[in-house]
Amino acid sequence: MDVEGHVSRRPLEQELVSRGVRMTHQRRLLVQIIQGAAGHLDAIALWQCAKDQDPTINKVTVYRTLAMLKRHGLVDELDLMHLDGGKHYYEAKTTRDHIHLACLKCGRIQEFESSLFEKLKGQIEREQQFRISTVRVEAGGLCDRCK
Ligand SMILES: [Zn+2]
Ligand SMILES: [Zn+2]
Repeated sequence: MDVEGHVSRRPLEQELVSRGVRMTHQRRLLVQIIQGAAGHLDAIALWQCAKDQDPTINKVTVYRTLAMLKRHGLVDELDLMHLDGGKHYYEAKTTRDHIHLACLKCGRIQEFESSLFEKLKGQIEREQQFRISTVRVEAGGLCDRCK
């Protein structure tokens, strides 16, 4: 059974083009940063990364692009246990679903993937007749460095 097949695993840019979204230079830049980011970026961090490559990019473009990606269901919006107040973080939905482990002391975010998680999603879908399109699990605690 294909439990993770509901979400496209194509690169974001390709996915957007196939949906008929017009890709401007700045949109492409933002999408590439989100796609390639090692961590989880909030809107301001994303804006700062983009400005290094294109100083003319403004915050409004960043917010609009994020809103567009959300509308298309291509990014996850995370609050990561509110470690940093009300900030929201964005992550491309092209990776496998994972659980976020947030260290409440140092703020480190670790990602945890497990086939059990995939199984659990399958079980939910079967037993509840529910089709999961997005799933978000976070755990707060202490990382190995802070324990
Ligand atoms: Zn820590
Ligand atoms: Zn993540």
